[in-house]
Amino acid sequence: MGKLIVGNWKMNGSLAANQVLLDEICLGLQVRVLKGCDVAVCVPSVYVHQVQTQLKKSPIAWGAQDVSAHVSGAYTGEISATMLREFECRYVLVGHSERRQYHQESDAMVAAKAQQALASGVTPIVCVGETLAEREAGRTMEVVKRQLAAVVHTLGPCITEVVVAYEPVWAIGTGRTASPEQAQEVHAVLRTQLQAACKEGRMPRILYGGSMNAANAASLLAQPDIDGGLIGGASLKSSDFLAIVDAANAA
Ligand code: PEP
Repeated sequence: MGKLIVGNWKMNGSLAANQVLLDEICLGLQVRVLKGCDVAVCVPSVYVHQVQTQLKKSPIAWGAQDVSAHVSGAYTGEISATMLREFECRYVLVGHSERRQYHQESDAMVAAKAQQALASGVTPIVCVGETLAEREAGRTMEVVKRQLAAVVHTLGPCITEVVVAYEPVWAIGTGRTASPEQAQEVHAVLRTQLQAACKEGRMPRILYGGSMNAANAASLLAQPDIDGGLIGGASLKSSDFLAIVDAANAA
């Protein structure tokens, strides 16, 4: 399986800016041959329709950044997985550290969101990662394994259908990246955990996220257990995003 590069726009963009950014990325991809590398953007939900319209004939998939853990009903402000599916979202981020941190999302809630997404045919990108304090206390593996275990427990054999993203919280938006060796070490642990859960099934891809950029992408993506990247800041500039796609394509 080729690499997967996913842009996370976070709460950025406007109708005009999105159009320019996507035009530039589409043009850039037209002159490249994607060798099994998949590309996607996860955008603020209000822009999903715009992105669907603009990317329909492109090789780029799209998705959202959060989804409700509920099917439908009295959950003001929430957006269901079925709604995302209506707009042909291929992916949705679940358990991003900014959701865990600012919206108190628990491991169980993240797992319920992943389950809802899958039930509607949207692939959840399950984000896990330790804080700086947890890393310094030597608790990295314990934390990421606990976060992933909650999703494995809820999804059972369907865990083969997800994408996992290892995003050390201390590396997100800080310009401080995990070294390729640090990232690989965690990815290998997550791989072993997934192998035990997937048995004969397809292995989920494991992405790295946290200040990945044009300069460091190649060395991270060269690691044996890094199957792609989840890109925040660098996904907002077409030249940076395309350079990361190039690195993935060459890896
Ligand atoms: C993210 O938000 O998922 C992320 C990885 O952000 P950044 O690349 O800006 O660190």
